[in-house]
Amino acid sequence: MPTAAELARHLGPDARFAADTAPFLTDWRKRFFGQAGAVAQPGSTDEVAALVRHCAGARIPIVAQGGNTGLVGGGTPDDSGNAIVLSLSRMNRIRAIDTENDTITVEAGCILANVQQAAREAGRLFPLSLAAEGSCTIGGNLSTNAGGVQVLRYGNARELCLGLEVVTAAGEVWHGLRGLRKDNTGYDLRDLFIGAEGTLGIITAATLKLFPLPAAQLTAFAAVPDVNAAVALLNLAKRRLGASLTAFELISEFCLTLVDRHFPQSRRPLAGHSPYYVLLESSDAESAEHAQALFESLMAEAIETGLVSDAAVASSIAQSRAFWALRENIPHAQAVEGRNIKHDIGVPISSIARYVENTNQALAQAAPGVRMVVFGHLGDGNLHYNVSPAPGADPDAFMASEPLINRVVYDAVAEHQGSISAEHGLGQLKREENAHYKSAVEMALMRSIKQALDPLGIMNPGKVLP
Ligand code: FAD
Ligand code: ZN
Repeated sequence: MPTAAELARHLGPDARFAADTAPFLTDWRKRFFGQAGAVAQPGSTDEVAALVRHCAGARIPIVAQGGNTGLVGGGTPDDSGNAIVLSLSRMNRIRAIDTENDTITVEAGCILANVQQAAREAGRLFPLSLAAEGSCTIGGNLSTNAGGVQVLRYGNARELCLGLEVVTAAGEVWHGLRGLRKDNTGYDLRDLFIGAEGTLGIITAATLKLFPLPAAQLTAFAAVPDVNAAVALLNLAKRRLGASLTAFELISEFCLTLVDRHFPQSRRPLAGHSPYYVLLESSDAESAEHAQALFESLMAEAIETGLVSDAAVASSIAQSRAFWALRENIPHAQAVEGRNIKHDIGVPISSIARYVENTNQALAQAAPGVRMVVFGHLGDGNLHYNVSPAPGADPDAFMASEPLINRVVYDAVAEHQGSISAEHGLGQLKREENAHYKSAVEMALMRSIKQALDPLGIMNPGKVLP
């Protein structure tokens, strides 16, 4: 087992290691527990490179870790104790902001909320936004190609990244921090490292896109009779609001029931109950009045045509936060309710209503009594199709049915040419499921890339690929 003392002997007196390794050895959901000889905390790209060179020489596996908010066990080492964790947390400097090029260059350990804040202070928007933004890092966001709530307008982390600095598996530095919007000079290395979950190299810095700050942001909450109506509302909202539609989230009635139960201080924006709700956000380049007028006419048209039965437009920032809190508290409420099985599936938006209807039926047959917690990024064709046990069911027995439940949920995804992981990645939780559904050709291409970039197999072994 590699120890901190041993590594320090090779790396010199400046090498830093975490005294308490425990928080780095389990994941956010506490589903995976691992061991590591040491948790290294390098402070610069050169220190990362020196560490990787040493590990390559000694064949020590490296598990990169940012904020450790990942949901698939990608940042947790296995329990052999052979690996080290490489925490990027000390590499948290904003290196440069270029407001003419609309770019920001940051180190991989920068916390997402701090990057948003630095952009705001420069009069710009960095639009990546997710509930873990107070602790997840840019390196983790890029390595998982994180989505979040504004993908509809601005794209995933991949679309927000122009350049990368990477320490390769051999411990060399690739200086790819280009702030270019167009660059067709061969294979796109940047896009290989993005979404690789630390299995191909260590991202040490990134150049990211910035956007104008909107003049106003407005949130609306609408009750819809079913998922079909939600999809029709999405299309209407896209036509009426154009590029200012920045979020479109679906929430099922059962999700709100859980939030009511476990966050009793929360208030529903609408009086009655409805099978589904939609949370919409517009980011307007003109003014709050302009946004308000557009939203009101959209809702009036949607009510008239029967897509929406009732709607509320937030009239203050506090109210808008309260709408968002309902959405963001769903995963927490589900966790308090008890153990659950999470999925973050993606299907074409045109199939999503049929997907939900068919899968609800199939699950009701395969696992009677289970409760579907359906919410998420409808505007991106990405739902958190989570499953909670029947009331009073034994939690262990329920978790034992996970393979059966996954098969039903993912077979339906495959039928619709969808993705078993639209957001969270594969890590160790979904690597076998992915291999089950991907073609032999696709798996072989992925293995060739891994072999080419990490021939010794020291970069986060056992993740992504079985
Ligand atoms: P970690 O968890 O530390 O690592 C994630 C993976 O990236 C691991 O495989 C790790 O080895 C690798 N990695 C980390 N840093 C580097 C690096 N510098 N170089 C190479 N590899 C690296 N995700 C979404 O996409 N959308 C959401 O809306 C969303 N909401 C969430 C809400 C909550 C409450 C929580 C807890 C999580 C949510 N997530 C969401 C998942 C998670 O926050 C994201 O995956 C996030 O991008 C992970 O960042 P991190 O810094 O915590 O990465
Ligand atoms: Zn999500």
